[in-house]
Amino acid sequence: MLENVKHIILVLSGKGGVGKSTVSTQLALTLKEKGYKVGLLDIDLCGPSIPYLLQLEGKDVHQAEGGWVPVYTDEDQKLAVMSIGFLLNDRNSAVVWRGPKKTAMVKQFLTDVLWGDLDFLIIDTPPGTSDEHITVMENLKAVKCDGAVIVTTPQSIAIEDVRKEITFCKKTGIPVLGIIENMSGYVCPHCTECTNIFSTGGGQSLAQLANVPFLGILPIDTKLGQLLGKACITEYPNSPAAIGYSEIVRKIVD
Ligand code: ADP
Repeated sequence: MLENVKHIILVLSGKGGVGKSTVSTQLALTLKEKGYKVGLLDIDLCGPSIPYLLQLEGKDVHQAEGGWVPVYTDEDQKLAVMSIGFLLNDRNSAVVWRGPKKTAMVKQFLTDVLWGDLDFLIIDTPPGTSDEHITVMENLKAVKCDGAVIVTTPQSIAIEDVRKEITFCKKTGIPVLGIIENMSGYVCPHCTECTNIFSTGGGQSLAQLANVPFLGILPIDTKLGQLLGKACITEYPNSPAAIGYSEIVRKIVD
């Protein structure tokens, strides 16, 4: 139930492995750190990684009168999480579903979860443009969806797919809030020199060309791989990724 959700943000990517779920999780955690009440919905039915990233695997979703109670990361109930991962028996179970079943599940996630009052709902989607995206976009038309954040890496092969995401958003009437260029350079923790392993600037040039906002870069930061559980990158305020996330969240909140 999305009636009392103030802002809904979709996180999209053209390809898998570009850091979309990490970005969704860290955006949610950073917003929570700022004092907002946040929901994180994982609709990547075939590869749900949010329960793993937040170390919530094995937690149960409860059926209450009126809908599903999401899983909370803390007793303060400031971050509510819902994922197909909570409904599978074990992490290795594969979801082998045809389109209509996936569509029904995504619809149920949007209508039957008791999110309560939320400032932000972040929706982590599968890579590309699939049944899940079409369903979510159609169902969000009735409520106010702020728009989509598109995550890419700087390589031209990943950037090419971002164009398709932008076209998809335009066709489905979802505003593009902006592009995030993740894994953009590696800052050496010893000498602080930045090495642009995969080149850089592709996300920004595409944003200019497509006339959509550029939200910022997130460098490769080894801390991100170690941040399992509800640890937020802002716990390392001087790390390159924490600086990137703070800037991006500031732009999203503004
Ligand atoms: P996706 O959801 O796009 O498939 P993930 O969020 O699962 O991608 O990220 C893939 C891997 O890359 C994960 O191991 C994650 O920890 C790592 N990762 C993502 N962003 C960064 C970054 N900026 N610096 C270092 N590692 C990153």
